[in-house]
Amino acid sequence: MTISLTPFNTFGLKQDCDTLIDVTSKAGLIATCNKLYKENFPMLILGGGSNLVFTENYQGSVVKVSTKGIEITSDDTHYYLTVQAGENWHQLVEFCLEKKIYGLENMALIPGTVGAAPIQNIGAYGVEFNLFCHRVEFLQLDTGKLTTYNKLQCEFDYRESVFKQRLRNLAVITQVTLKLAKKWVPVINYGPLQHFDSSTVTAKQIFDCVCQIRQSKLPDPAKLGNVGSFFKNPVISVEHYNTLKASFPNLIAYEQPDRQFKLAAGWLIDQAGLKGAKVGAATVHQEQALVLVNLGTATGRDVCQLARKIIDAVYDKFTVVLHPEPRIIGSQGEVKIK
Ligand SMILES: Cc1cc2nc3c(=O)[nH]c(=O)nc-3n(C[C@H](O)[C@H](O)[C@H](O)COP(=O)(O)OP(=O)(O)OC[C@H]3O[C@@H](n4cnc5c(N)ncnc54)[C@H](O)[C@@H]3O)c2cc1C
Repeated sequence: MTISLTPFNTFGLKQDCDTLIDVTSKAGLIATCNKLYKENFPMLILGGGSNLVFTENYQGSVVKVSTKGIEITSDDTHYYLTVQAGENWHQLVEFCLEKKIYGLENMALIPGTVGAAPIQNIGAYGVEFNLFCHRVEFLQLDTGKLTTYNKLQCEFDYRESVFKQRLRNLAVITQVTLKLAKKWVPVINYGPLQHFDSSTVTAKQIFDCVCQIRQSKLPDPAKLGNVGSFFKNPVISVEHYNTLKASFPNLIAYEQPDRQFKLAAGWLIDQAGLKGAKVGAATVHQEQALVLVNLGTATGRDVCQLARKIIDAVYDKFTVVLHPEPRIIGSQGEVKIK
């Protein structure tokens, strides 16, 4: 008998797996993953399923991380929160707000688990996970050892980390320690937060504003399956930017500290005429071109074909390569969009 993965992915894709193991303790997570790895059994670590696209039935074990627990310590200047991987990210943000521990409020309503947060260095509204990362503890599958990395060792970058590079599919994140300053400094330099006054704004006001904007801008996965932004915002050289700007004066771009330019992928998709483009029941969201949605019966293959169509069209028009944000999972594990 197979297990349906539909309730376990926010795209609502109808695929199955051979077995699903729900793990609620850190010791259980370590033992389960070590055993499956040693036996050479295909395994997929699953958090909230909000960054996954299943293209086929998964022929292996899905390990659902449901470990819970938050421990708080502090020194003169900072709070340290050690959080188990299966905790829900948004609930952690709310928990911090209740305890008057501030800093995470800009990242309210990002779906998924705490354990997945370091993997793509989640971020929103001018703030990224790495700003608050103190340590990440993980089981390294090829050595069978529990290892702890500090922030530097995690090699964070825009939607990147060592867990998507050298340790891709080799690290099971067991817990994360966040370091949050007791002296809170609001981050309000991002578009819709700019109207706040930094001397009077509260973390709760930022939290409420972020929640309200996200709820109005992003489709609710419970109603319209999606994984949030489907593509990373591409970063290009200054020369490439100048060439594009000459042809497309309205180009939306943000200069980076290293003088490269980050382009708004949603704008590129929109300008390539792809808003509303469809493959099967997968479509480019009408209000937010960066989001692909499931109209109900989309398959992972529809989603990937649509993504390919977008990648090709944006490249033809702008010579810019778009890279998908979610992980694409075939019958044996991670695959690339063909
Ligand atoms: C509506 C919506 C809005 C979103 N907005 C944002 C946003 O603003 N910013 C942003 O950065 N992202 C956003 N995302 C993407 C998503 O929320 C993040 O990528 C999130 O971190 C995924 O967490 P998850 O637990 O659902 O991971 P999953 O989808 O379950 O897994 C994602 C990947 O991480 C691996 N993984 C999960 N847990 C672990 C673990 N403990 N150890 C090792 N590997 C693990 C999985 O194997 C998989 O490869 C959004 C998604 C949706 C649906």
